[in-house]
Amino acid sequence: MAGVLHDTGDVADPRTARAAVSTGRLPTAEAVRATLEGVHRRFRDDRGGKVADYIPVLAEADPELFGIAVAYVSGGVHAAGDADHMFSIQSVSKPFVFALVNDALGRETVRRRIGVNSTGLPFNSVLAVELNHGSPMNPMVNAGALATTALVPGASPQERWDFIRRGLSRFAGRDLLVDDRVYTSEAATNQRNESIARLLDSYGALAGDPMATTDLYTRQCSLTVSARDLAAMGATLANGGVCPLTGEQVVAAGVCRDTLSALATAGLYERSGDWLYEVGMPGKSGVSGGIITVAPGKGSLAVFSPRLDEAGNSVRGQRVAHFLSGALGMDLFASTPHTEATA
Ligand code: GLN
Repeated sequence: MAGVLHDTGDVADPRTARAAVSTGRLPTAEAVRATLEGVHRRFRDDRGGKVADYIPVLAEADPELFGIAVAYVSGGVHAAGDADHMFSIQSVSKPFVFALVNDALGRETVRRRIGVNSTGLPFNSVLAVELNHGSPMNPMVNAGALATTALVPGASPQERWDFIRRGLSRFAGRDLLVDDRVYTSEAATNQRNESIARLLDSYGALAGDPMATTDLYTRQCSLTVSARDLAAMGATLANGGVCPLTGEQVVAAGVCRDTLSALATAGLYERSGDWLYEVGMPGKSGVSGGIITVAPGKGSLAVFSPRLDEAGNSVRGQRVAHFLSGALGMDLFASTPHTEATA
């Protein structure tokens, strides 16, 4: 299956829908607000996909929930639908922990220990580690995320946890907290992640204790956010590492650039090629239904919709991002021929 992005109607045709190119800024606040309302109505009845159930508590999610938020690098946030509904961040935490670790340890260390190539395999693949002789391959699949979390600095589990929770909160511009039910549910059914951590350890590719690392990673995935929070976090990556809501420099500008390039390669796992081809921006998904996409220098779009495709990516989230990347002129690869008027 090539993905879920081929049946979004007219938006799939670049000749009609890609008039807005990647240069310049996002449209005005008023235009964005109207577009978000329209796109929420347009996709309200899209029921493609299935809610994740391999973590028991996630199966309880209301599949109808649907929120969209756009955050500008200038600090404005516009939202539609259930954009304030709180859910666990899951894999959308991966780029932010990667950015924090990259910022703390330096890009070469992280590059050497994690890697930046896609696996072409599912996010929780054990086979990918074996096929690549113990390399975690990239920070966006579970093996690479576990290896990244193992590098988190701190003298105790509490210090390492503070580094993650405080760091992700700084990206969001507000204090983020754990959903204990999600944490407990995932911790009780986490054998696969524990296996991946042990396998990495057997190859000497994990900097920390496998069980303690898996526990820390599980906590990181259980932090709760809204679509509005995710858009703010993405806008920090779009804004050279400065959170547009607080003005705080969270990570260095170069770290954001590294993080976005890693997202372009592997943010949607084995669907990353389809995503980049259709949406034209780095993106990241999580199994609770969150998805972010980032236009550097402009802002970020976040969607929350719990029904997923087989790779674990929000179906409606992908379709909305596809539509909006064209409608809001966010696609990094779109251009129009040079004319004197645009010189
Ligand atoms: N916590 C989830 C896991 O490790 C995150 C996976 C995801 O969101 N794709 O299985």
